[in-house]
Amino acid sequence: MTLLNETHNPALKSWLASANTAGCDFPIQNLPFAVFRRKGSVEAFRGGVAIGDQIVDLAAVAKSGILKGEAADAAQAGAQDKLNALMALGSAAWSALRLALSRTLREGSAEQAGLQACLVPQPEAEYDVPARIGDYTDFYTSVYHATNIGKQFRPDNPLLPNYKWVPIGYHGRASSIGISGQQFRRPVGQTMPPGAEAPSFGPCKRLDIELELGIFIGSGNALGEPVDITEAEDHVFGICLLNDWSARDIQGWEYQPLGPFLSKNFASTVSPWVVTLEALAPYRTAFTRPEGDPQPMAYLDSAANRAEGAFDIQLQVGLQTPKMRADGQLEASICRTSYRHAYWTVAQMVTHHTVNGCNLQPGDLFGSGTLSGPSLDQAAALIELTTGGKNPIALPNGEQRTWLEDGDSVVLRGWCEREGAARIGFGECVGTVLPARAPLSRPTSALVTPD
Ligand code: CA
Repeated sequence: MTLLNETHNPALKSWLASANTAGCDFPIQNLPFAVFRRKGSVEAFRGGVAIGDQIVDLAAVAKSGILKGEAADAAQAGAQDKLNALMALGSAAWSALRLALSRTLREGSAEQAGLQACLVPQPEAEYDVPARIGDYTDFYTSVYHATNIGKQFRPDNPLLPNYKWVPIGYHGRASSIGISGQQFRRPVGQTMPPGAEAPSFGPCKRLDIELELGIFIGSGNALGEPVDITEAEDHVFGICLLNDWSARDIQGWEYQPLGPFLSKNFASTVSPWVVTLEALAPYRTAFTRPEGDPQPMAYLDSAANRAEGAFDIQLQVGLQTPKMRADGQLEASICRTSYRHAYWTVAQMVTHHTVNGCNLQPGDLFGSGTLSGPSLDQAAALIELTTGGKNPIALPNGEQRTWLEDGDSVVLRGWCEREGAARIGFGECVGTVLPARAPLSRPTSALVTPD
């Protein structure tokens, strides 16, 4: 488990003024990673670290020779077009790079001029998915979400008996994960309208969001070698925002008996910035179980996990309709919650995933599952906020929404704040719904009459 060190000191200031402004997502205590290039250019994507309104270009840093030793090796690994090589180096290397960058970005650093030459302004950058994601696993770690959504699909049996024992998950689709700014077509598929005798085919009518966190695996484990919970977090590179878009009407028809398929694999959007577990150390909190619930089995339990295995990450979902955009209005908040309400921790997810010998690889992504909190305003999907589509939500401009409509944009935000620590943020994760594809024109098979 990462202890607090000099990089977390809330009194640290950077020589870059924009990093010291109140409310900034990227002060010197954060230092998250992304891959980027100059917008509209044909430059190669490369790793970068956010500071204030700038990006420290790791390729430029590696070339400059400013950093030495393990930090220089880590910067070199981070100079590639994906972060997998840096992720594979392990937590000691990430930590060495963080410490070296923290020292060179501080007020009074002798390296200020050298590092200044390695900065690219964030408004001039575009981003890519930070890793080659070999496998994407979506967990289901909010008991509130599991119960609320269970009520929609199985009113008589909302929370299945395995939930409080097993960190439930399923293998998702990595190829359709896109970076913030992703625009995707409303999916089409089969649905079974209530009371109908046969399924229909057409555009999804119940398109939803899922506010999640994405957990990037750093160093992997060998096939057949489980990761003990006391070492699980050493395998985690960091955390980003994740919107796991969901087609509820397609899901309702297809999900039994093997779980979601086409209702989830058409698009998932991640934020560019990955905040390391080391940066999140000040915002750890105790992992507890409600009175009367079973305690985790021994393999999912450790003293450190109980003491501070959870993270208090504040989360918000914003919705911007086409009308709001046309009227120059920003997105309206429709949900505020925290990751601290999750039923299972990051360490428990890693350990459970590997307990059968399954091998994780650098760049693999876990979804936390929809992070609904205990009350309705903390519900992190429309299916919960609207009670299964029965109660539309009212937006401040007088519009209503039950499900996402074409042109709607959804903006996820996340941040951490605690007395005695700097405030750090995750930036944003934006995605926009485009109209469904026009149906493929397919001639009905012509009747050929033989002469
Ligand atoms: Ca999900």
